[in-house]
Amino acid sequence: MITIKNSQEIEYMRQAGRVVGETLLKLEEIIRPGITTAEIDRLAEEFITKQGAKPSFKGYYGFPASICTSVNEEVVHGIPGDRVLEEGDIISVDCGAILNGYQGDAARTFSVGTVSEEAMRLINITKESFFKGVEKALVGNKLTDISHSIQKYAEDAGYSVVRDYVGHGIGKEMHEDPEVPNFGRPGRGPKLISGMVLAIEPMINIGDYRVVTQSNDWTVVTVDKSLSAHYENTVAILPDGPEILTLV
Ligand code: MG
Ligand code: MG
Repeated sequence: MITIKNSQEIEYMRQAGRVVGETLLKLEEIIRPGITTAEIDRLAEEFITKQGAKPSFKGYYGFPASICTSVNEEVVHGIPGDRVLEEGDIISVDCGAILNGYQGDAARTFSVGTVSEEAMRLINITKESFFKGVEKALVGNKLTDISHSIQKYAEDAGYSVVRDYVGHGIGKEMHEDPEVPNFGRPGRGPKLISGMVLAIEPMINIGDYRVVTQSNDWTVVTVDKSLSAHYENTVAILPDGPEILTLV
């Protein structure tokens, strides 16, 4: 069931979203060669709790940390730990927070020091594909208008779109209906109406779209070990157009 949020709920989600957006901005400043993913996680938890919110990933299906940190060929759900980031790595940070009983969810892929031109292009195209999707997040459109727009942009750039993981509705729960695929034909799925809130989150690979989960049961990697990037925001569909709640 798709839940429609009233203006008070949208305001709560705006506040939760701001916590997530601010946290990701702060993490961008501290990510550099030599830092461990556990240290990034520790700081994320500190930033979230300082803003009066709670990290929503911690304990979610037993997830042991406050953020997901996915490096290079890791796509999503990487677990922070003693891995030391190196010059030239790329790292996707996925962050969720709950405030006033409502969720915010967003992800960015950051470069660590100076990265290859190829890696930088992947990061940029992934981010741009999100905005191509958001352009279609309009009242009266169909859900997969968003999906198709993301896929077309990413594939026209020569990349592939992850199929096994998708975006989602969001509200009191982190994952609500509907699923928001980053691929597919346009004009399908539910009609977009005012008050829907969606986490739109393209996961884009340089190589093959296929992914596999590692033996820790969490970390998802590309089958061909090609680089992968992730860009996500929580987006409210409103009469005047989409509002990105997690972008500050
Ligand atoms: Mg997320
Ligand atoms: Mg999400």
